[in-house]
Amino acid sequence: MKTYLVTGGAGFIGSNFVQFVLANHDGVRVVNVDALTYAGNLENLAPVKDDPRYTFVHADICDRARMRALIAEYDPTYVVNFAAESHVDRSIENPSVFAVTNVLGTISLLDAVRDAWTSESGPGDHRYLQVSTDEVYGTLSLDEPDAFFRESTPLSPHSPYSASKASADMFVLAYADTFGLPVNITRCSNNYGPYQFPEKLIPLMIHNAMAHEPLPVYGDGLNVRDWLYVEDHCKAIDLVLERGRVGEVYNVGGHNERNNMYIVERIISELSGRLGDPAISSDLIRHVEDRKGHDRRYGIAPDKIYDELGWEPETPFEDGIGRTISWYLGNQRWVDHVTSGSYRQYFESMYGNR
Ligand code: NAD
Repeated sequence: MKTYLVTGGAGFIGSNFVQFVLANHDGVRVVNVDALTYAGNLENLAPVKDDPRYTFVHADICDRARMRALIAEYDPTYVVNFAAESHVDRSIENPSVFAVTNVLGTISLLDAVRDAWTSESGPGDHRYLQVSTDEVYGTLSLDEPDAFFRESTPLSPHSPYSASKASADMFVLAYADTFGLPVNITRCSNNYGPYQFPEKLIPLMIHNAMAHEPLPVYGDGLNVRDWLYVEDHCKAIDLVLERGRVGEVYNVGGHNERNNMYIVERIISELSGRLGDPAISSDLIRHVEDRKGHDRRYGIAPDKIYDELGWEPETPFEDGIGRTISWYLGNQRWVDHVTSGSYRQYFESMYGNR
């Protein structure tokens, strides 16, 4: 039986990945290791919480002894590291927590699997996959629309968040070179979809628009991101685990570049149309002082994962954004719990105050 040890599985992408694996693979077990920071929410896993193939472990990836013990206890085939501090704005406010979780936490996991997998029996089918980001490559110019990040693009992070992710990536590759650890790194563009914490652009705009609250847009709103529906990202990670070449980095992106104004206007028109609410309009948009060090454009060339593994994004943006808006409209209780913080009580009622 294959065991996936997924860290950060109570967050946005991790919880989608846990559900994806359980829905698409027979004879697997998924162990979700999550510290439940403000971004971790067990309500994201309500559809699988009673699945006997699923186990939740409340633990911090920085706890080195605990990580070693968990690797020994569950003997995972795959370790997929989603656990991270993930919000750029928070990294500008408090960089050091990003270094601790994203860098030291990754090293703690690498050490735990190194000890288990580079013993005499060798790595076998084991794989450590680091879930990384296109932000490690820095920024592209709006004037060169044909320039893209490739796996060979030098790392040039600008925010404390991306610096911590780039650093973690380098440790992962160093452990592969030094200790022969079987690793992969995926570097994905911006994700959107169900269960995304409403501090991020798309859920924030949906939430505020529905409440007729201001829609804050950084600077001129022309910063470009390559948006990918979260399920397509989950498929890419799954493919890399199954068939990716050991030691390789794979870029994952949607060839779906949009600027922030486009995203916000799209959400306004979809929501106002669906709800028949004329108060949801561009009048809610407020341009606010730009983010410090704001990268202008991210654009991914996903040619390698396409050529080697046949992966391509399957969800057109117009479908994905419609599905995402439907999900938020249909899960208002989830949104209310997140925005009121009451999902913490859910954890305590499910698992006690551990
Ligand atoms: P998220 O903030 O929604 O979730 C992070 C999860 O990690 C939470 O459940 C949190 O409780 C957990 N966590 C944080 N610190 C931990 C620790 N010390 N020990 C154990 N668990 C801990 O993040 P996300 O948006 O789902 O991103 C997941 C991963 O994907 C991150 O590594 C991020 O860098 C990467 N990524 C995100 C995007 C994106 O668009 N969201 C794009 C590319 C890559």
